[in-house]
Amino acid sequence: MSESLPRVTDPDSYRALCQSLVECENAENLERAEVLRAMVDAAAFGECPDCQDDDRDGRRMDCQTCGGDGFVPDNCEVSGVALTLDNFVEEVKVDIEAFAADYRKQHLANPEQFPLELGADNAGLWTEFFMDFMTRER
Ligand SMILES: [Zn+2]
Repeated sequence: MSESLPRVTDPDSYRALCQSLVECENAENLERAEVLRAMVDAAAFGECPDCQDDDRDGRRMDCQTCGGDGFVPDNCEVSGVALTLDNFVEEVKVDIEAFAADYRKQHLANPEQFPLELGADNAGLWTEFFMDFMTRER
């Protein structure tokens, strides 16, 4: 994440930013889209965990969590508070334990699709599963 980018904390600005990003992508203005995407990533908002900004079947419009915006304030980051290594390690521990618990639950429901052991060739998949879990949760 680049430090020089302004952090968008206003919902209206964020909405406008997202719209500009889509417009740039549609116009294949990739250089500008890249800058805008970095700003979207750095902004104090994230995709709504309820409707996932999914507009099909009016899901987003009816969403109570985000009120139809498709995004919610990002509470994962506390602005202005430095993160120590210990805090970071704590956070990762919480995340990885949540992942393990979630995976075990899925394993019980569907052991074939969620094996508790991956072959040596596939061991890298654990990282992938964890990343999937993290992006799904946020
Ligand atoms: Zn929503």
